[in-house]
Parts: sequence; structure tokens; C-alpha cells
Amino acid sequence: MSSFKDIKPFAKPACASVTLPGSKSITNRAMILAAVAGGELEIKNALFSRDTIIMADCLKRLGYVVESDREARSIKISAEGSAAPNLQAELFVGNAGTAARFVTAFCAANKGGEYFFDSDEAMYKRPMKGLMDALREQGSEFEFVGQRDCFPFKMRAGGLAGGEVCIDASASSQLLSALLMAAPLAEKKTLVRLSKGTVSRPFVEMTVNMMTDFGFQCSRPADGVFEIVPRRPERRMSAYFVEPDATAASYFAILPALTGGAVLLENFANCSLQGDLGFLDVLHGCSLVGTSKILNGVLAVGAKRPAGNYAGGGINFSDISDTFLTLAAASAALGGNLRIEGISHTRAQETDRVAAMAAELRKVCLAVSEEEDALEICPHKALPEGISDTPVRIKTYSDHRIAMSFGILGCADIFGDGTPWISIEDPQCVSKTWDNFFDTLDAARVASEKFTTVAVDGGAAVGKSSVSKAVSDMLHLMHVDTGAHYRTLTYALINAGLADADEAAVEGYLSDFKLGTAFDPQRANSARMTLCGELVKDEDLRTKAVNDRVSVFASMPSVRNFLKGYQRSMASYAREHGFSGLIMEGRDIGSVIFPDADVRIFLDADEQTRAQRRAKEGISDSISARDRMDRSRKTAPLVCPEGAVRIDTSNMTKEDVISRTAAEICRAK
Ligand code: C5P
Repeated sequence: MSSFKDIKPFAKPACASVTLPGSKSITNRAMILAAVAGGELEIKNALFSRDTIIMADCLKRLGYVVESDREARSIKISAEGSAAPNLQAELFVGNAGTAARFVTAFCAANKGGEYFFDSDEAMYKRPMKGLMDALREQGSEFEFVGQRDCFPFKMRAGGLAGGEVCIDASASSQLLSALLMAAPLAEKKTLVRLSKGTVSRPFVEMTVNMMTDFGFQCSRPADGVFEIVPRRPERRMSAYFVEPDATAASYFAILPALTGGAVLLENFANCSLQGDLGFLDVLHGCSLVGTSKILNGVLAVGAKRPAGNYAGGGINFSDISDTFLTLAAASAALGGNLRIEGISHTRAQETDRVAAMAAELRKVCLAVSEEEDALEICPHKALPEGISDTPVRIKTYSDHRIAMSFGILGCADIFGDGTPWISIEDPQCVSKTWDNFFDTLDAARVASEKFTTVAVDGGAAVGKSSVSKAVSDMLHLMHVDTGAHYRTLTYALINAGLADADEAAVEGYLSDFKLGTAFDPQRANSARMTLCGELVKDEDLRTKAVNDRVSVFASMPSVRNFLKGYQRSMASYAREHGFSGLIMEGRDIGSVIFPDADVRIFLDADEQTRAQRRAKEGISDSISARDRMDRSRKTAPLVCPEGAVRIDTSNMTKEDVISRTAAEICRAK
């Protein structure tokens, strides 16, 4: 009996940061390249998953010393004595395509070696022939237990002769990558020629780029031709940093499109080796999410638009095929017609992914037509109509990517009441590449549902209002502009003929002053102060008379005390109205009103920039005079609160400040 995991939908828009696992493809390439290079290497930010553990185990069986530290995400590989591996070994590659191909080619280079290879049954059917033909041409022999050119088999390694060798890597680019990475061990220069094209070309790019990083010489004299110099690198590096996994990123990049809100993908900004980074462009093309590189990470922002708005009909996934499942599954909740092309080779991966996705998508109300190389998906009925039996049980075919992509789909709260509607069979299968994927997803949901208080402080015209409003819309926070509170009181005092009143008179006036709250009719997320149940017009709050007096009244302790309780009460007001949190802007929010705010932001900009911004808005305001008064007053002066993130916005675009602020909130959750 398989176990199932019900996915809890997100009751609130996403607001979380996620630390991605290291890339599987890079970790396994780094291990084999470390073995080919000889010497000692520490692989940092390494992925610990079934496939990489299998690779490490193969190297151990071949005589390498492999020290793994899961906590530190580090794998150290060293060859004892000479770098040559054991001449005999029994190797098990599970269902890891990379280990299956890379280790076979690597062992073939070890002349005189005799190796027995076995695998999971699923691997028995996966393509090996192209590589085996090339290795035969280079001098090795194979004996098969079952079907020819398939696992399990025995290999008598004949070394790699070098010279010209043709390879058919049309079934999998790993066949080519395997040969390229072993080729530095050949007796002479190797010229590898692709007999047909290959799929997933970005993985070949990754191989060539990593070989260069490791100090091997692999050039491309012509299209489909690779020349490898038979030499170990002279200068060996001692450590190699693995990029976070771009395919893993696809799940959390699409999540906000299903839940609203935003997710910060930590440390993901400076990746370049992985083809699946192209998935972010697909998301932009589909108008699904906005992403911005920020703080070393990427912020994915939800837009909840149909998946199928892609110009030109279909999206070709042949270069980024691991991510087609992510978009296909999400399309169930996004709506729109979607055509995914260039995926026939994925029929020979963990499972027949084209057929498997078609079958599972039909369970969630999608009409799917399956072609050899494509899936055409259109919503049969809009969700949740048509889903009567919940949860829908998704079969995962031992395929981690099916489990993860439907896990993300299940986060969409299609019933609006948090009813789980997707259940994932055999959720542990994700351990192939991300063993705590579902824990990470649960943590992101819990973080998103946690009420958050955000204080945004800064002088006049630093951009507090526009940034706070935009962030409140993005993350479903209630927005409160406390400057408007002081302006409203000032307006009332001026109208009462108290423009020049001293503190005692003001205090007297406030003693029976009643404040109320209403949402701004123009901005549903902004709660504003009312006078006698009425909102004061914005233009009446920004007259010269108000501008001239507001900082004087704001410096009076009785005025500040009077507003303190009201402003603090806004947190429960936001909770009562179902917001995910509160974002309050002002001068003393992080220092006095909410000194324990979950996030404290201090915005700053040089005076010239602020004056220019105000002039652009057509506002003439004595900014510096007000600032001087706000900074120098005795009670609650304008300061950068302790522990606040200070952002100098002088040379930043508004969008950058918004992303940066939202990223800090996601991170603080
Ligand atoms: O933000 P805004 O320019 O509308 O604020 C008007 C004035 O209100 C500020 O110059 C400051 O004197 C006062 N204020 C304050 N504390 C806050 C918000 C505004 O003293 N938290």
C-alpha cells in the first residue's frame, strides 16, 4: 500500500523565503570531474539526495575517499595514492541517469578493469546504447544480463583510445556528457562527433563549462564536434561551489502564481550554469510572475494570470524539459490553453513523463491531448467545478518531479476554505533530488499564514508611501500611513482655529476628540483615519497650511501619545479584517509604535533626489525644514530604528526598492 500526503492549500498569499538545495546535475558532475582530476576537492553547497548519494557510493566502491557532511552541505573527495580507481568493483546506480552514464564512461577509461553494474528496474529501460557503442569503439566490451545495451551489465574496460569517436546522444544528453568528462583520461586527443543531434543542449553547455572550470581543455571546433585534450589539469582547485538547483527553483517560482504573494529564492541571483534558469523567462512570457534579482536572491511575485497566454501557441521545452511538469501541473489552477512541445525524450526518463502527466492532469479536470512530442492542455471546467471527490489522488510513478509539481498545484486554495484537494502518492519519492521538499513547502505555508508587522520609517519624500502601498498589495498587508494621521489632526486643529495653539490648548481640544477608521475607497488595502466618521480628502491634507504646521503639532508629546494607542490598535484592526499583516509607515514606527515589529525598514535618500522626486510629483514642500524638526524634536525623533534594514534609495528604481522591501519581509518570516 502506498502512502499519500494531503496537501494543505495556502490560506494566505505566499510570503516566505526558500533555501534551495544545490543542483543535482552540478553536484554529480563535480564528483566525477573531481575523480577525473585526481587530488582532493571539497564540493560546497552539494546536494544530498538519493542520486548524489548513489554517485558518492560508486566513487567509494572505486576506491575514492568520500567524506560527506550533510549539515554543512559538503562532500570531500580524494584519491588515495594514485588517482586510478579500483580495477574491480560492483556498482549500483539506482535510477540516477547521471551516475549510470558518468560512472560507466569513467570506468571504461580504466584499462584492465572489470566492473559489474546494476540499477533499479526503472533504469533497465533507460537509454545507454549511444554511450556503449562509443565506448566499444574506444576499446571496452560489455556483457548483458538481460536486454542488450541495458542495465545490468558487466564491462571489461579497455581504456579510452582517443581519436575520433561518434556518439548518438539523441536519446539523452547525459550519454554525451559522460563521454566528454571521461575523455581527458584518454590516451590521445579525442574528437567527439555527435552523429545525430542531442536533447537538453543546456546540459551539454553545463558539462563543457564545468570541465573548463575544473581546468580541462574541451573546445568546440565545429557545431556538434568536441575536442578534448588528454591531460589532468595542472592547477587543481581545492573547492567548488554548487549553484542552487534551478529545476527545484521552478516549483517555488510558480507558487505565487497559484497563491498570490511572493517567494524569495535565496542565493539564486548569480547562477549561470543551468539551462533550467530559462524557466523564469517562460514564466515572464506567460505573464505568470514577475521576478527580480534582489539581495543575492530572486523574488518571484504572483500575478494569477492564465498559463496559456503564451505568444505563438506552444512553448518549446526541449532545452528545459525538467520544468515542463511544473507549468503543466500549475496550469490546472491557472486556466488558459497551453501547448507544451519538445518533450518526447522525457518519455524515457524516471517514467514516461508525457503519458504520466496527461493521465494525472485529466484527474484535475483538464482535457489533455497527448502527442508523441507534446501535450495540449485546456481546462475542461474551471476549478473547483468538476472536482467532487476530494482529495484527488495523484499517482507519482516514482517520479519526484510529478510529486513536486502536483504538490505545488495543491497549494492553490480552489475552494477558498482551505480544503485539501490534492493528495500525493508516495511523497518520499522526492528524495531523489530534494528530500525535505514537503517540509519546505509546509514551512513556507506556515510562514505565509503568520501575521506580520512591518514598520517603514524615513524622512519626507524618501518613497515610503509608494513603496508601502505597493508592498501591501503584493503581500496582502493592511497599509497605514501615519503621516496622514498627523496631517488629519493638523487639518482639524486649523479648522478649529487652533493653528497657532500651544500644547495645553491642543491637549484640551484632543480630550474629547473621536477617531475612527475606514478603508480608502481608492485603495482597498489602506486603512485611514476618519474625523466624525468622514475621510478627509487627500488634497486637504496636503495644503501649504497643513505642511507648515504638521511637524510643529507632531513634536508635541500629548499629540504623539494621543495617536500612539490608535496606531497600535491598527494591528488588531488588520487581523480582524483578514489581512496577512500590517505595514505602517511614518517616522517613529520601528522605534516607538512597534519596536518589536517583525521587519523594520528605514528608507533614506539624499536631499537632492528627494527634492527632485517631490518636484516631479508637482509638490512643493519644505522637506528639509520638516525633516530638521522631525529629527531634532525631543519626543520620538526621526531615527533609524535599532535593528532596521537601512535602504538608501537615491540610486534605486522604485521597483527595486519595492522588491528589496518585499524580500526583507519574506526573509523575516
Ligand atoms: O509622511 P508625511 O510627510 O505625510 O508626514 C507629515 C509629518 O507628520 C511629518 O513631517 C512628521 O512631522 C509627522 N509624522 C511624525 N511621525 C510619524 C508620521 C508623521 O511625526 N510617524
